[in-house]
Amino acid sequence: MALTNPKGLSEPDETPPKGGAAAPAAADAGRVTPMMAQYIEIKTANPDCLLFYRMGDFYEMFFEDAETASRALGIMLTKRGKHQGEDIPMCGVPVERADEYLHRLIALGHRVAVCEQMEDPAEAKKRGNKSVVRRDVVRLVTPGTLTEDTLLDARRNNYLLAIARARLSSVGEETRFALAWIDISTGEFRIAECERISLAAEIARLEPSEIIVSDALYADAELVPLWRTLPAVTPLTRDVFDGATAERRLTSFFSVATSEAFGTLTRLEVTAAAACVTYVERTQIGQRPPLSPPMRESAGATMAIDQATRGNLELMRTLAGERRGSLSEAIDRTVTSAGSRLLAQRLSAPLTDPEQINRRLDAVSAFVDDVAARADIRSRLQGAPDLARALARLAVDRGGPRDLAAIRDGILAAAELARALDAYRETPAEIAEALKACLKPDGMLAAELSAALAAELPALKRDGGFVREGYDTSLDETRALRDESRRVIANLQARYADETGVRALKIRHNNVLGYFVEVTAQHGDKLMSPPLNASFIHRQTLAGQVRFTTTELGELEAKIASAAERSLGLELDIFERLTAAVIVDTDALKLCADALASLDVASGLAALAAERAYARPHVDASLDFVIEGGRHPVVEQALARDGTPFVANDCDLAPPSETQAGRIWLITGPNMAGKSTFLRQNALIAILAQMGSFIPAKAARIGVVDRLFSRVGAADDLARGRSTFMVEMVETAAILNQAGERALVILDEIGRGTATFDGLSIAWATVEHLHDVNKCRALFATHFHELTALSARLNRLHNATVRVKEWQGEVVFLHEVVAGAADRSYGIQVAKLAGLPAAVIERAKLVLANLEQEDRAAPKGFEDLPLFAAMPAPKPTAASAYDGFGALASGLAALNPDEMSPREAMEALYRLKEALAKAHNKTSKT
Ligand code: ADP
Ligand code: MG
Repeated sequence: MALTNPKGLSEPDETPPKGGAAAPAAADAGRVTPMMAQYIEIKTANPDCLLFYRMGDFYEMFFEDAETASRALGIMLTKRGKHQGEDIPMCGVPVERADEYLHRLIALGHRVAVCEQMEDPAEAKKRGNKSVVRRDVVRLVTPGTLTEDTLLDARRNNYLLAIARARLSSVGEETRFALAWIDISTGEFRIAECERISLAAEIARLEPSEIIVSDALYADAELVPLWRTLPAVTPLTRDVFDGATAERRLTSFFSVATSEAFGTLTRLEVTAAAACVTYVERTQIGQRPPLSPPMRESAGATMAIDQATRGNLELMRTLAGERRGSLSEAIDRTVTSAGSRLLAQRLSAPLTDPEQINRRLDAVSAFVDDVAARADIRSRLQGAPDLARALARLAVDRGGPRDLAAIRDGILAAAELARALDAYRETPAEIAEALKACLKPDGMLAAELSAALAAELPALKRDGGFVREGYDTSLDETRALRDESRRVIANLQARYADETGVRALKIRHNNVLGYFVEVTAQHGDKLMSPPLNASFIHRQTLAGQVRFTTTELGELEAKIASAAERSLGLELDIFERLTAAVIVDTDALKLCADALASLDVASGLAALAAERAYARPHVDASLDFVIEGGRHPVVEQALARDGTPFVANDCDLAPPSETQAGRIWLITGPNMAGKSTFLRQNALIAILAQMGSFIPAKAARIGVVDRLFSRVGAADDLARGRSTFMVEMVETAAILNQAGERALVILDEIGRGTATFDGLSIAWATVEHLHDVNKCRALFATHFHELTALSARLNRLHNATVRVKEWQGEVVFLHEVVAGAADRSYGIQVAKLAGLPAAVIERAKLVLANLEQEDRAAPKGFEDLPLFAAMPAPKPTAASAYDGFGALASGLAALNPDEMSPREAMEALYRLKEALAKAHNKTSKT
């Protein structure tokens, strides 16, 4: 590959590029070339980044950076000159393909400092032969501060999250955290406060690509385990999180007098927000992404869903980590990437205010009813560009001609859409507001862009040729000059062919020689002998051709080059001017982008509702949870692909009377009956309803859920080095500690991970606690049939079972949820279905028959077991009121798993087991 500098110059003090003939300039040990000195200075200022050091058409890396990058990218490690007597390892990536390499390095967790040449090498030369081209870092590339399409997932937000903590000195008061998060590729900027207990859940909701914290917080022993589970946590020096200067840093970024401009923010929130903008300034270096003013999310505005629940319910991806099979994939019918991003945001953060939820539902409803409008808007949106990201790139000077075109097309599409949907100008509110925003951007801007931009656009502005002919007179003139010179060259070729009598003589061009005259080898001699050698100067002899230049050709070439350079310069000026005009309209453009996204989401959800027969949920502030004919949105679609129908089921967790709390359903039934599916579908319906979507059910009445918990027994979590049962208990403890009467709790086979009596006892105590203390709505699936006896004592506990039918000794799953308890577990029938050898099945049947007979001979219902018979009915309010089991339950309730080290957790487990043993002793003595 030719390693030419764009200007055809090399730096005076450089050793020649790869393969060069001259001796290394710094061969003598200890001498540092001026260029290496510059490199080392810049590298020292950016020690935590790989340094992409621009040299001509390449970004070069040296020393350890080169070794790291060559290993990570699988590119050749070479060397260049010597430093203190040692070879300097080097590797490089071509500027043209830098994005691709950046992408891979960022994905591997590296940060990259991009160092550019800040002047033309010719300028440096003017300062003397020893001078080095001025270079400077223009940007730090980190996972949370990306803007390039090639580095981003179009359908996902890319958040940078800053976390600040206030240590409140007064004892007893809680430590508080403030979160501020931005997506610089769209300009979104939000702030919220949260407590320690919900910190992990908030992070799980946002799924930031990068988290910044102060050094102190990074090293905090209590938080280290959390940081370890997260990708890209960047510790920063204290000044970034300095509360004293935060207000000033934040207000100066937005050029406002006081942070009150953003509403009432706590000092801690201002600190987190200031950390975000400071980090943006540090990484973007002089470029200013179009951040919106920070918007505060009020506490409790969204349904709290912790990490484990998100995982279990497979909201954004399946347990295997794939998007396919997730709820997000199942419901996404958006047609733009901005719409897809907004849908993912809404799905991650369902609302809790019925009014806001209904506002969204009204919009979906309108598009469900108006089939024509829905089809129209969706086909119009299909071609709409990603306004927000194009705008962000232009603002940080990473935009190209196609980004300008995206702005133009976005403005035009939005305006047309507003006209087409004129019928919705007044109502519903969400659509009406969006349509207003669609008309906000400056129409003149779109007209100007249309006039300026050519039909075919290059990806990069420096490729030129993107300005339409006829837009700018002086550009047209220089272009004519350039084209004219090309014609002169063609004439010159004809004349030379005549003069030399070589018919096949050609004038060609390449990057090394520029323009040259080329003849085949057999004619070479002729041009090299008198009289022709007076005008033809030999340049190069190849196998088949000989190449020459002439004074005339040289002059012409200079003229062409300057005309081309001038016209590119003019085009770049125009680009700057247009970009500036776009930036002026930033606010309107962002509103417009958001509006398009919200129309896409509303019409996409309407399309989903129509396609899959979803119904509008009734959402209010009650404690109801009444689902009629509910279905699992993902399983239903998977079954539909095989033509299998999904059996719809009802669920009613509404309080039995107005003064009471919601119900708990205890669901029993054999393996494979559909218990887990039923549990999850109800949780998913709550999420869908509160994010403002129609739901897979005939009808539903839902009193808003403020916290959602979903746990599965015996979930393997070997990656974090905890035993499965430990995980189960830690997670159960979190629920018993946090769930209030507005919560919805889904517990699937809790207690499965330990010996029968242990597990049963814990499940038993857990149900009691949920019923008497948490008083939340809950679904509890269990294989402990004994638990169904609890319904006699716990008045809001309802037994349900999934029906199966035995037919000729085979079990048939009906997937039908009905009142009552499963009479047996059909384990042997399921084992048979699974293909256990016939002999084993027969033997198992025999053993079971014997066991059942013994049971009948010495009849004891589970209620008669001393363990449970001796237990007094728990008092409704206080967990501590009941005996040894109470101690167990309250001990469990007191645990705060997020705050425990694995060792503390193990110790707690031993304590719990001890309490359980005591409870056993106590009950058997009485
Ligand atoms: P369980 O938790 O009782 O062992 P699952 O909920 O895992 O059972 O369901 C087992 C399988 O039965 C699922 O994979 C699904 O294919 C099917 N299934 C469950 N519920 C239904 C339903 N309501 N309608 C149709 N098929 C269902
Ligand atoms: Mg199950």
